[in-house]
Amino acid sequence: MKESLLRAMTRDGSARAFVLNGTDIVNDAIAFHHPAPTAAAALGRTLMAASLMGCMLKDKENALTLRIDGDGPVKTILAASDYVGCVRGYVANPDADLPRKPNGKLDVGGVVGNGTLQVMKDLGLKKPYHGMIRLVSGEIAQDVAAYYVQSEQTPTVCALGVLLEKGKCIGAGGVLIQLLPFAEEQTIARLEGNVKNLTNLSSLIQQGMTNEQIMQIALEGLEYDLFDTLDAEYRCTCSKERMGEALLTLSPGELFKMLQEDGQIETCCHFCDQKYIFYGEDIEAARHRVAQRNEKNKKK
Ligand code: ZN
Repeated sequence: MKESLLRAMTRDGSARAFVLNGTDIVNDAIAFHHPAPTAAAALGRTLMAASLMGCMLKDKENALTLRIDGDGPVKTILAASDYVGCVRGYVANPDADLPRKPNGKLDVGGVVGNGTLQVMKDLGLKKPYHGMIRLVSGEIAQDVAAYYVQSEQTPTVCALGVLLEKGKCIGAGGVLIQLLPFAEEQTIARLEGNVKNLTNLSSLIQQGMTNEQIMQIALEGLEYDLFDTLDAEYRCTCSKERMGEALLTLSPGELFKMLQEDGQIETCCHFCDQKYIFYGEDIEAARHRVAQRNEKNKKK
């Protein structure tokens, strides 16, 4: 979707805010993975969170992975994003589903359960950055906010919502606001109060509210400037080259056996369901590419 993600900053520089209309992202995820409603909401919220977190990366080579592992029926949810908020993801058990909660909302906390939230950031350094917390509620938005507070010491408020009807997403959105360490207590309290007015965020989007209008609710009472918009969308980055190199994590013996038995190896991308077929010469080519790259890196 064009201009799906809006970025803003308060005029005093103490907070930056991001609003995402994730309706298309969630519908693309549904088209790829065919999840049951509660799994779809859990995946949708995680994808939007990863998109909002990704758009804070500085460089186009950077990447972010958000991973949730719970003891609920959905098990693992994984989403990966880039610096413009483009995102892809999957859920380990797309069939996971629960009855709606008394308030009519999908029981995402129930389907996720207790567990952990992990964030991996590839910032082009030798080792990727890694942070992990225990899940607070499994509802994703509170967990993401808790992650920033506990793991990165950054006060953060977050709201995420997915509205589904007849197997389609009719409104999905996310808001993430981050405060700098010197932000005043009253600003934090104000923003937390504002976000309470966004508990029905997905309905607001379904009713046609724009990102600018949602930003106005999120930053009510604060002076701010709109910064820019990004075309965040569901985007897979898989390719036959990458998939072939991933196959090399199997031992040569295993690969040989698979080729012996079937004459080819078929793989399927977790994120977009694209199928790739490899013959012996494809595996050789992948091995050659990796060897050449390692050689080049050694010379650096
Ligand atoms: Zn793919």
